[in-house]
Amino acid sequence: MMKKTYKIASVLLVIALVLVGCAPSQTSSDSEGKLLVYTTIYPLYEFASQIGGSDTEVRLMVPAGSEPHDYEPSAKAVGAIENADIFIYNGSGMEPWVDSLLGSVSNDDLLIINATSTMDLLSIVETENDHEDGEEESDHHEGDTDPHVWLDPLRAVQMAEAIYDGMAAMDPERTQVFKKNYDELVDALKELDAAYEKALMNPSNANIVVGHAAFGYLTQRYHLNQIAIAGISPLEEPSAAQLGKIVDVVNELKINTVFYDALTSGKLSNVIATETGVAMVPLHPLGSVTQQDLDAGKTYFTIMYDNLEALKKAVQ
Ligand SMILES: [Zn+2]
Repeated sequence: MMKKTYKIASVLLVIALVLVGCAPSQTSSDSEGKLLVYTTIYPLYEFASQIGGSDTEVRLMVPAGSEPHDYEPSAKAVGAIENADIFIYNGSGMEPWVDSLLGSVSNDDLLIINATSTMDLLSIVETENDHEDGEEESDHHEGDTDPHVWLDPLRAVQMAEAIYDGMAAMDPERTQVFKKNYDELVDALKELDAAYEKALMNPSNANIVVGHAAFGYLTQRYHLNQIAIAGISPLEEPSAAQLGKIVDVVNELKINTVFYDALTSGKLSNVIATETGVAMVPLHPLGSVTQQDLDAGKTYFTIMYDNLEALKKAVQ
């Protein structure tokens, strides 16, 4: 009698151990077996959503419409990444908080993708106003790079490639689906590049005045010249003297448009437009898109084509 009880107990113990032993290996993805992907800024979110398709759960960390250069992750965001399969960030200085975030995450199975790690990047050129009149030093230092790669459609192709490679590595069974979605995305990006190339080929005036220095890769790709009112982040505002210099440049170069960042009130652009009498027009830096715009069906692509229409008029 005693003996039989022992035997049943040990069988139950073995079953329990087998169940416990199996559990962790099944739950790196969520219960439906979908990849759970965290992305930092909007363009990564859209590209990852498109490549992952309906079999992947993609989440955006920088909330819709909030200033991406000013974001700090909450403790809740850190906790969420503990359960993620993939974390995708822009790199190139866009998310100065990433090292400390990842330092406090203990998810050993997390695949971390820096979307610009293999990219040819532009250095930040220090402008005169960075050190003028004993102002505070900016957060940027020599050797820092411009993070706004997504505004160049061909660098966006490289971002898509980094995302695709990561998803295929983490969920090899769905590689074919990811590849098909990735190919469609790349085709759309190449079409976008061709439209920019064609429309901006022979500008009457290649100089564009923009709200903050977000358009360095775009202007490099299409042979335009960016004159930025604020620095690499909209938080780096110019001095009064620097604004005065931009007013002079607009007059001297006969520039017909002053752009402002679509997410901001554009008060500095307004100062220049008022002084010079030229048009003030929004140009979208796309680091973040408002919920209102998303609800209205706007995407990376519709906004890039809207930007192109605005640019065409400005360089005519
Ligand atoms: Zn920016």
